[in-house]
Amino acid sequence: MALTVEQAKTWLEDFYTEIEAQKQYLSDLDTPIGDGDHGNNMARGMTAVHEDISDADFASVSDLFKKVAMDLISKVGGASGPLYGTAFLEMSKTAAGSTELKDLVSAALAGIEKRGKATTNEKTMIDVWSPMAEKLNSDEAVSEADIDQFVESTKDMVATKGRASYLGERSVGHIDPGAMSSGYLLKALVKVGA
Ligand code: ADP
Ligand code: MG
Ligand code: MG
Repeated sequence: MALTVEQAKTWLEDFYTEIEAQKQYLSDLDTPIGDGDHGNNMARGMTAVHEDISDADFASVSDLFKKVAMDLISKVGGASGPLYGTAFLEMSKTAAGSTELKDLVSAALAGIEKRGKATTNEKTMIDVWSPMAEKLNSDEAVSEADIDQFVESTKDMVATKGRASYLGERSVGHIDPGAMSSGYLLKALVKVGA
């Protein structure tokens, strides 16, 4: 269904709350296969988003997402900052014409894939965005349990992109931190009920 500005704000505030609550866990996931900063990176970005949107009015979902994109690009840093920033920038462009979830998620996925020069099965956030887009595009209902499964699927994968790829086979057995944070984002979206 189509997302309103109010629903989009609720989504982002819920994600902010979840990131604050899971900050340590996300950095812990990033410790064995990365540099242990993913939770802190995301918390820095989402704090900026929260400060910029909580008391502000936005004329459209497109304007709101543009603001979010700028905050994430300038505040998150690392590999994930430009990727999440691109996701929101692409969603902002798409939202000018449609705020249907399938259109938004498909646009975000395409942006992440292009920016990260990556595809599915490389143990990244794409392994959550891609099956999510697929389900939405086939008009299937997506539950929180489905999303948990997408996140969990990264555990058995060998990383071939990002810092975790330096470990090769030794990356197996660990959930990808960016997949986990993307799971929180998409679960919060499902909860909004748009
Ligand atoms: P950094 O690795 O620079 O410290 P973060 O820890 O914030 O950045 O983010 C790491 C996450 O970014 C990974 O868990 C993965 O999901 C995602 N990621 C890294 N490289 C890519 C890529 N090329 N394409 C898609 N996602 C990627
Ligand atoms: Mg990191
Ligand atoms: Mg880092």
